[in-house]
Amino acid sequence: MKRIKLLLFLLAIGISTIFILKDNETIPSKATSIEQKKDVPLPTELHPIVKERSDQLVQQAAKIGIVVMITDGFRSIEEQNTIYEQGRTAEGNIVTNAKGGESYHNYGLAIDFALETTSGDVIWDRQYDRNQNGKSDWSEVVKIAKSLGFEWGGDWKGFKDYPHFQMDFGLTIADLQNGERPEDTSNVADTQ
Ligand SMILES: [Zn+2]
Repeated sequence: MKRIKLLLFLLAIGISTIFILKDNETIPSKATSIEQKKDVPLPTELHPIVKERSDQLVQQAAKIGIVVMITDGFRSIEEQNTIYEQGRTAEGNIVTNAKGGESYHNYGLAIDFALETTSGDVIWDRQYDRNQNGKSDWSEVVKIAKSLGFEWGGDWKGFKDYPHFQMDFGLTIADLQNGERPEDTSNVADTQ
């Protein structure tokens, strides 16, 4: 009876070893295909079209008496992780729900803005009306940005990111993480 139990025990170990080895065999091939896609280098600056539209936003706002400050553009993974910790493990208020690699800033496709007052202060006051036309400057800037093709973070359901504009070029964060990038659309920029 003891011998049978021992044999069954050894058999069980043998079978589980085979399964473990089999599992390990399938992992390497899967891992390489993901790594290869992720090898696509990350950008190191704003996408040229986003940069151009961002400049146009500042210029068009200036024409109606609003001074727009672009406070942030391209952000590295490390910089993104640092601001993610703000309001969590670090001091301050939570300013983002995106960790490194989860924000359009990390792919050079987003900008943040603020307003400059007549006394030179940089503010995030969404009621401020520097040009005194009865409309809040913030909403006027948002309107211009949208006309230039930007998506506004203030329109998001859930966490609203009022100073944030982005262009996704039809790509999700998952696409970008998988190494997809906006096509070279420099011709489009020329016609605008
Ligand atoms: Zn932003």
